Amino acid sequence: MLKAIALILRAVGLLKFDRLAEYTSEYPSTGRVPEESLVVVRDGDVEKWACLACPGGCGKMIALSLNPSRRPKWHVTLDFWNRPTLKPSVHQLNECGCHFWITNGTIDWYPGRRRTNSRGAI
Ligand SMILES: [Zn+2]
Repeated sequence: MLKAIALILRAVGLLKFDRLAEYTSEYPSTGRVPEESLVVVRDGDVEKWACLACPGGCGKMIALSLNPSRRPKWHVTLDFWNRPTLKPSVHQLNECGCHFWITNGTIDWYPGRRRTNSRGAI
């Protein structure tokens, strides 16, 4: 219900986000998660993974460890609308090479690493 309201508010321009968080208890072994989601895998109260489809266009699933005893590790916080803030940034080291933050559900690209071709722009 909250998600439905959030989607309506976004459609009319009152709420801004690219991704909403949702929880699951099982790691997405298919390697696919919904484009508009950040899927948090948790076991009981323990958050284990944050999974998202790469926003850079390659579509590969990015799985980030939330395990505090591992390196590297990430931290996800959610606001009222389940918009995730992910820290630190994500930097893909594959051919996609995208580098971004997610703040309040919005993807912010690292300067110069935007996937879209900006040649010719001022
Ligand atoms: Zn990618």
